[in-house]
Amino acid sequence: MTSLTCQQLLELDQKYVWHPYSSTINPNPVFPIVSADGVRLKMADGKELIDGMASWWSAIHGYNHPQLNKAATEQLQNMSHVMFGGLTHPPAVKLCETLVNITPVGLNKVFLSDSGSVAVEVAIKMAIQYCQAQGKPEKHRFLALSNAYHGDTFATMGLCDPITGMHHLFNAVLMKNIFAPQPTSRFGEACNKEDINAFKTLLDAHHHELAAVIVEPIVQGAGGMWFYSADYLKQIRQLCSDYDVLFIVDEIATGFGRTGKLFACEHADISPDILCLGKALTGGYLTLAATLCTDKIATGICQGEAGVFMHGPTFMANPLACAIANASIELLLSQAWQQQIAHLQTQLEKGLAPATQLKTVKEVRCLGGIGVIEMLEPVDMAVIQPLFVEAGIWVRPFG
Ligand code: PMP
Repeated sequence: MTSLTCQQLLELDQKYVWHPYSSTINPNPVFPIVSADGVRLKMADGKELIDGMASWWSAIHGYNHPQLNKAATEQLQNMSHVMFGGLTHPPAVKLCETLVNITPVGLNKVFLSDSGSVAVEVAIKMAIQYCQAQGKPEKHRFLALSNAYHGDTFATMGLCDPITGMHHLFNAVLMKNIFAPQPTSRFGEACNKEDINAFKTLLDAHHHELAAVIVEPIVQGAGGMWFYSADYLKQIRQLCSDYDVLFIVDEIATGFGRTGKLFACEHADISPDILCLGKALTGGYLTLAATLCTDKIATGICQGEAGVFMHGPTFMANPLACAIANASIELLLSQAWQQQIAHLQTQLEKGLAPATQLKTVKEVRCLGGIGVIEMLEPVDMAVIQPLFVEAGIWVRPFG
């Protein structure tokens, strides 16, 4: 395979491979990568790209990190996988203990799974099973925010914005959920009355049929990189408690320091009932996700009709992924990560500031390790992506 020329590789790719969100008849260009180190991706022709995507926000330490490599190699020699039904192992136990210790207070049980979307599916199932166990089977719908994105699997597509989201084609067969207006109150500002009133009105009308509210905290990612008020987040958490509706927070994109706090919930000083983690959990090395919940939810589910939680993926708690996740979290917390992320934000603000002068740009905004240039019109990926590559950087515009 390594003896293929670049041209041959691209021909075979086009013949056999289907890429994310792509057409097989009118494909956008793809760029062959042969290795990665630090912040740089090396292309097959030897050219290097500075990676502005961190592989969809997962590679928080950069690529080919010696400590993560060491953890992977050691675990590989020991045991790369073993089933988790009826068996356990140190990497998983250590990871679950660590996650309970570093996430917001009260989340004491951890369910490991394969990917972000599955972690959200697990959260959905936990909420529904919990409500059933409470003798309230009618509480099986969800309330999400407009412009939300929570994944690509079937139930999670039903939590994505049904109008602006990319899954509207499936609307006829998706769960019929409820969407509150996107908060207009910006990050750093108090919540305005309209935002919270709109949310409260929906909760008031639907709480009896709602299993849970789900949000991406502080940053709505794929729905437009919108940074919203921590005060809003705090108030909707409180309203969920008042109306006895579970509160799920999807920190798959925001977790592990991305917004300047270890978890974005910390900006609002809140704890959810259920928390979803993924992406940066293994420092971008392997796919792994986690859904954490409170003792109340875990106990409630297990006292219900089934007596157990009805989920169990084949590769649950994969030891290799867990060992790397442990090393990644240790590495993150052993550094002055808060200062480093604050520095990233300052650099992004400085570096992206000239873009505000462009007529085609609507706004530039930065938070933690996130730098956004919002355009007035959607960009043509087929045209702009090769231009970025020519300039030596890897970014993937969307929307
Ligand atoms: N939730 C959020 C907020 C995400 O950003 C993503 C991934 N983009 C997901 C869920 C789904 O994660 P995955 O792609 O690992 O299934």
